[in-house]
Formats: sequence, C-alpha cells, structure tokens
Amino acid sequence: MTSLAFLQVLGIEPKMLQGGDIVVRSPIDGAEFARVRADSPAEIDGKIAKARAAFLEWRRVPAPRRGELIRLFGEDLRKYKAALGELVTIENGKILEEGKGEVQEMIDICDFAVGLSRQLYGLTIASERPGHRMMETWHPLGVTGVITAFNFPVAVWAWNFALAIVCGNPVVWKPSEKTPLTALACQRIFEQTAHRFGAVPAHLSQVVLGKREAGMKIVDDSRVPLVSATGSSRMGHEVGPRVAARFGRALLELGGNNGMIVAPTADLDLAVRAITFSAVGTAGQRCTTLRRLIVHDTIYDRLLPRLKKVFDSVKVGNPLESGTLVGPLIDGAAFERMQSALARARVDGGAVSGGQRQLENVHPHAHYVRPAIVEMPQQTAIVREETFAPILYTMKYRELADAVRLHNDVPQGLASCIFTGDVREAETFVSTEGSDCGIVNVNIGPSGAEIGGAFGGEKETGGGRESGSDAWKAYMRRATNTINYSRELPLAQGISFDVGA
Ligand code: NAD
Repeated sequence: MTSLAFLQVLGIEPKMLQGGDIVVRSPIDGAEFARVRADSPAEIDGKIAKARAAFLEWRRVPAPRRGELIRLFGEDLRKYKAALGELVTIENGKILEEGKGEVQEMIDICDFAVGLSRQLYGLTIASERPGHRMMETWHPLGVTGVITAFNFPVAVWAWNFALAIVCGNPVVWKPSEKTPLTALACQRIFEQTAHRFGAVPAHLSQVVLGKREAGMKIVDDSRVPLVSATGSSRMGHEVGPRVAARFGRALLELGGNNGMIVAPTADLDLAVRAITFSAVGTAGQRCTTLRRLIVHDTIYDRLLPRLKKVFDSVKVGNPLESGTLVGPLIDGAAFERMQSALARARVDGGAVSGGQRQLENVHPHAHYVRPAIVEMPQQTAIVREETFAPILYTMKYRELADAVRLHNDVPQGLASCIFTGDVREAETFVSTEGSDCGIVNVNIGPSGAEIGGAFGGEKETGGGRESGSDAWKAYMRRATNTINYSRELPLAQGISFDVGA
C-alpha cells in the first residue's frame, strides 16, 4: 500500500525499515510495511548514559537560547506537516485531518514552549528575619524518559519534548511498538533542526525502539529522574510503583472513561455534533473519547434516534480518503476487545445498535467497525471499564445530583462535560461537588483539548499534568534559597542557640 519512497521525504531510509524484529503494520489494510530493530538492553543503557552527558552541557545553556532551538523545530515541523501527518495516518489509522491536526498540536506546543523559555519564574518570598531574602529558583531536572501510546504517536511526545528541552533536559523517547516510524521521522526532523541551530549537544534527543521491556529499562534507571508515561492504566500500575521505588518522579497519563451529561435545557444540535465527534472520532481511540452519555429522561427519546441516525450514516473507511470520518481500529486485538465488551453489555441488559465489522471483503486483514451505541439499564462493570473502541453507553437520569454521582462512579478521571443552558447546572458541574475529572467542560465535548491548558486526569488516569499552564514545573527541580545580607545570624522561629563564640 505504501511506497517506502514516501518516507524518504522525512529522512527515513529504506534500509532502516528492513530486517528488524518489530513488525510495523498499517491498520488501513493490516499489511506489514516495515520491520524495525529493537534496541538491546545494552544499547538502551548506552543511550541513557549519552543523554546524561548531554544534560551536563544543556543545563548550562540559557533557557531563552534553549527556546530558540524549539522555535526552529516548530519551523521545521511546519515544513513537514503534510508528510508527517500522512505518516501518522498510515501508521496509526486516524483520518488525515486528525493526522495533520496532531502535527499542528506539535507546532502549537513549540510556540508555547518558546514563550515559556523566558518565563520559568520562581517566587520571591518575604523572610521573617531582618537582612534576609528568600527566593525560589528552578533548575533543569535531568534526563526525561518519555513513553508514549500508539493513539497519539507524535503529539504526546512533542508536549513532553518541547517543555523538557526548554527546561534544560535531554529526552529519551520509547514510542509505542505499533508506531515506531513516526518516532524515527520526528527524530530525523529534530536532527535537521539541531544541525541548523549549531551548538546542540550530541544525544539531546534519542529514540529507543522496543516493547514493554524497553520501557521498563527506562523506568528502572535512576539516571532518569522523570519518567513521563502515557498509556493504559494497566501500564501505569506497573510503571508508577517502580519509579516510586527508586524515588524518581513519574508523570502518568493513563486511561479515561469520559462522560457527558445532557440536561433538559441543552442545545441538542450542538450536543449531537459534540457527541459524534468525541465518541466516533479517531475510531473511539482517544484517551478523551466520549464513552458514557448520561441523558435527562425527558429528552432521552428525542436525542437517541438522532444519534443513532448519525452513527449509522457516518462514513467508515480508508482514513486517507476525504469524507471518511472513522478510520480502522489499530489491530485485530482491539476489534476482539470491542466485540467482547459488546457481548458483556448485552448480558447486562444493554441494547446494542451498530458495532459490526465493516469493509471485511475489501480489507480482510484490517479492522473497520460501525460505531456502536449501547442503551444500558444501569452503569454495570463493563461500562466502568475503558474499552478502546467506538462504543457509546447511554443511561438516563432524573436529578442532576444522581447524574453527577453516576458520572463520577468510575475508576478513571480524565475528561468530562455537561450540555446545559442553565448556569446553575453548569456551575455545579464545574464546582467541587461536580465532576471529579482533570478536564471539566461546559457545552463542548470531552475530547480535542488545546495545548494551553494543563492536560491530565485523576484516579486511575494517573494524576499527571502535561502540556500548558504550569505543567513545566514537573520537568524542573525547585530550590528554595535564603540569602543573608546582614551581619547577624538570627535563627528562624526566634530560636536562641548561643555557642558563645
Ligand atoms: P499501552 O499501555 O499498551 O502502551 C503504552 C506504552 O507503554 C507503549 O509504548 C508500551 O510499550 C509501554 N509499556 C507497556 N507496559 C509497560 C511497562 N510495564 N513499562 C514500561 N513501558 C510499558 O497503551 P496503548 O494501547 O499504546 O494506548 C492506549 C491507552 O493509552 C489507552 O488506555 C488510552 O486511554 C491511554 N492514553 C492516555 C492518554 C492520556 O493523556 N491520559 C493519552 C493517550 C493514550
């Protein structure tokens, strides 16, 4: 399906794609299109050592100068947006519009990081002692390990990378074994940028290829003070305790089970569009995908037929073709998990519309599905799990307090929203008694965040925050400094300690 010549635009030579032990398949047709070589444990060890050496140099470069490197990287990403966006689509299966959108997100975070490079502020704090001044300084933390999931193969790395670099940290990136080529392409683009910039330490950015074991090498290495890991809550359960055991810092971005409450005063035209984009977009393979719809019982019978009509007609197909809104699932295992979730929902009394395999005759090795709506009598165990596929469970409510309780009664806490025209309901949902998620929206779906806000969630979503706002603080080490410019040595809390000297 894919000519390797296409990849040369991104600096990937055919010889890099042959003879390796990791098989890369495009979910568009399920066919193998490359094999890349996994790094050995010794090679990973060597890469971390080189990153540590790069840190000792890079931390001395002034932050605005570090920002200049990211400014140039953002320029290069603009040049390669179309090609890299297409590779995202080929390797991951999201529609081209979303593939290019992912690269735009990389560009946006670069712009953000450039400004940030002049704003890594600490506070000045009033000292209780005369002739003393207190302040905070922020220093580069060290090698940043980044482990990413298949579903956002480039944007999530860029969120981490742009911030880590301006904060003074080299990055060692272990991409998903399902999407190694986009990682190699990003590395090639960055190498061009580094060449243009000039004085960049060797090995400021490195890619480690491999599966779970390669990630674990990074997780267990005490030369990596920060591990930013994105993936399933299962992965976070393994990574979090291991990083903690060596007193490292983990930034965890894990699974979501995102909900929307649709209140009686909601604008249903807006709601239908938002539900469709956030439930079926990216074939239900976003951490922020809408998975649970909690609808007021007075409007349920008006909303559901409209949704079913849209879900039935939305174009499922080749993500490179214009007009397609739903591309394939990543692989056969994802398809099996979707079918088994639908079977469990049926056993629990759910009424399923959609969910069937599509285009099997055209692409027998790919896994396209019709997005499913499952009307549930209640929020059973399967609804409380994240199934990484386009399944929207719907439930009814009568009182807002019950809807909020239902909404929060899942192990995950990533993204949430309410559609309402009632300011009291909107404010209740965003208040302390409302949604318990990291992202809480009003009259907009749960997915498709902008880079300016801190991104992440609570509970089994892992508690990490990355991207905008003050997420940069995770990539730096804070020092509190007290400066005595007096000729006395008063002690804090007025303590007297007379040594008679
Ligand atoms: P996954 O957990 O299977 O793999 C994610 C990455 O972790 C891969 O690179 C994998 O090789 C690595 N990995 C797995 N086990 C590991 C271990 N024990 N130690 C070190 N590394 C390990 O996830 P996936 O299927 O690629 O992605 C889908 C999941 O990611 C979904 O649950 C989705 O919600 C989540 N996700 C979360 C966010 C977020 O920001 N919260 C963003 C994107 C995806």
